[in-house]
Amino acid sequence: MLLDLREILDVPGSRLAFRRELDTARLDFPAVLRYLGPISAEGEIVNTAGVLTARGGIDAELLCVCDRCGAEFRQSRHTDVDAPIVPAGDGEEDEAFCLTGDALDIDDLLETVFILDMDTKFLCRSDCKGLCPKCGRNLNDGPCGCRPDIDPRFAVLEQLLDK
Ligand SMILES: [Zn+2]
Ligand SMILES: [Zn+2]
Repeated sequence: MLLDLREILDVPGSRLAFRRELDTARLDFPAVLRYLGPISAEGEIVNTAGVLTARGGIDAELLCVCDRCGAEFRQSRHTDVDAPIVPAGDGEEDEAFCLTGDALDIDDLLETVFILDMDTKFLCRSDCKGLCPKCGRNLNDGPCGCRPDIDPRFAVLEQLLDK
């Protein structure tokens, strides 16, 4: 959606509130099975001494799959939005979002902020123990009884002792 910013564009100190629901089409990540409920974004475009900034937050409820153990888990995710906006054609700042005329593609901005903030690794918990490489058991449920691999240096020693 294009947000018309004409009324705040040249008025330092002014602000314009926005409230959006994000379309999930672009927000497709391998570790995200689906979104539980709408992805809601809320905030305002603020004109600070002639410089525009989008501020606010995005809230999403995700059903994810753990990279390490494969378990499904829920994640409540809050993404802070604090993004600079520059006039159309002012593409010098890579980090900034450009206006289209006097309007801003607010959905594109919010989706991009959400994507950039996304974790590269999804773990059901920070100390997830993962799966046993031998028997495949989920080690979060307890040890599996497989013997850990013997350090090759000790294996040599064992052979020597056997003789
Ligand atoms: Zn896990
Ligand atoms: Zn095992």
